[in-house]
Amino acid sequence: MEVLFKKEGIEYYTTLPWNEKYVKNKDMWANQCKENTVFALTVFLMPYYVKEPLEERNLSRYAIAKDYHVYFDCLLKQYEEKSGEKVLGFCDHSPLYEVEAALDGGLGVLGKNGLLIHEKYGSYVFIGIFLHTKPMVCSIPVPHKECLGCGACEQGCPAKCIGGSKKRCLSALTQKKNRTQEEDKEMLRGKLLWGCDLCQEVCPLNRLPCETPLSFFKEELLWNLDESILERLVKKNTLSQRAFGWRGEKLLRQNIAAIYKKG
Ligand code: SF4
Ligand code: SF4
Repeated sequence: MEVLFKKEGIEYYTTLPWNEKYVKNKDMWANQCKENTVFALTVFLMPYYVKEPLEERNLSRYAIAKDYHVYFDCLLKQYEEKSGEKVLGFCDHSPLYEVEAALDGGLGVLGKNGLLIHEKYGSYVFIGIFLHTKPMVCSIPVPHKECLGCGACEQGCPAKCIGGSKKRCLSALTQKKNRTQEEDKEMLRGKLLWGCDLCQEVCPLNRLPCETPLSFFKEELLWNLDESILERLVKKNTLSQRAFGWRGEKLLRQNIAAIYKKG
């Protein structure tokens, strides 16, 4: 694993003993993992921050490179081939508490916005998890640390959904199919047609994030989406390789129409 991660530029990872407390979604866990005995998990960070050009962007930072699931799947495959070990892997769509595992591994602090914040890469990190089906040398979980608690994310959130309120995050709204006109208006309180980065942008712990060392997240960047770019992605059959592609073309057209009507 060290050799693979070093080659890729993945600097921050920890292997921890398996614990049932990491299971968030019991049904998903039972469906995908019940056949296997899990001994340990390796939790690791895939930073994705890159400095943006001067032009304004309309996509969330996490969605400007190609889909991180594509990168993760490829990494998992490489690890299995090299180690000969059967490994279960999760990134984002996961039955596990990924942030909890990363905090146990000492990979950052817990932000008031629920995100993991790393001292070098800020909250601009994807969390990956490999579940090992053989015994591994493990580290001891460390006590969790919290962010500054300054409340800037709470104040900066246009939907006021940080800190216990049940209001809907605008990022989720950009991914909702068949939105009403009201919801379209609500979505436009953020600046983006896919995702929302506002609570991350105002966070003082994100002031000077380092750029990602992972080449995958520095190539084929797309800062803006409009009708012609969408058309091109559809024609080339590459929409599914983008993190904003999974909800389909129709929703993206609705988002583009909403945001350009606003502009
Ligand atoms: S992503 Fe946007 S809407 Fe969601 S919590 Fe952060 S600031 Fe609020
Ligand atoms: S803005 Fe302040 S309260 Fe919010 S995550 Fe950052 S440090 Fe924590």
